Amino acid sequence: MRTLPTLADGFVDLVLGSRCVGCERPGRPLCGACRAGLPAEAGLRRPTPCPDGLVPPYAAGEYAGVLRALVLAHKERRVLALAAPLGELLAVSVAGAAGAVTSGPVVLVPVPSRPAVVRQRGHDPTLTLTRAAARARGTGVVTARLLRLRPGVVDQAGLDAAGRAANLAGSMTAPAAAVRRLARRCPRAHVVVCDDVLTTGATLREAQRALEAAGVPVLAGAVVAATRRRSDDARSGVPGPNFR
Ligand SMILES: [Zn+2]
Repeated sequence: MRTLPTLADGFVDLVLGSRCVGCERPGRPLCGACRAGLPAEAGLRRPTPCPDGLVPPYAAGEYAGVLRALVLAHKERRVLALAAPLGELLAVSVAGAAGAVTSGPVVLVPVPSRPAVVRQRGHDPTLTLTRAAARARGTGVVTARLLRLRPGVVDQAGLDAAGRAANLAGSMTAPAAAVRRLARRCPRAHVVVCDDVLTTGATLREAQRALEAAGVPVLAGAVVAATRRRSDDARSGVPGPNFR
């Protein structure tokens, strides 16, 4: 009986050509061993330098290794089966972000993606992960799409920290109707802004600014993973993780 999982994994590989994104073992897109090794606790990961006034950002780990492979395979290669483990990782960060909340619902607000990118990819990974995280956290945690992107925002990849901040300044808005709906549904909401990867903190800061401008206080940020800053990445042409 001990060989059954291997046979099953081999069969999956034969049919789907699937491999674990962590260790490349043929079989499921995330093998049991790699899944068992995922972080179970989030940490506070402030970017350096940190945007002024940024709410505390929590991440399950560094944007490297298995976490990076998971994010990219789900986002760029549409390995949709990875939404569940990624949602669990984001839920770990939400638990860190909302750790002190004892009453009132926790509302997860996904960072919006550019509509053209969503069409091109055929899905909205950040929204999917945020919903999966809400499901993983269970009762008292809901998702609300409060943020929209104004037209004119360009791809963040290839921009340095200053370029990213300028590109994003004033780029998001929280429509009054959506804010009113949330106020009716959850009058004492604790809002956590969710994203897949934290790089400079500019995206999270802009989401926070737009929500606060609409009268919605933000408790914290939660991401799957945070990059370790290498300030020369953008200039050397290494693609950053924020392809939205
Ligand atoms: Zn593996």
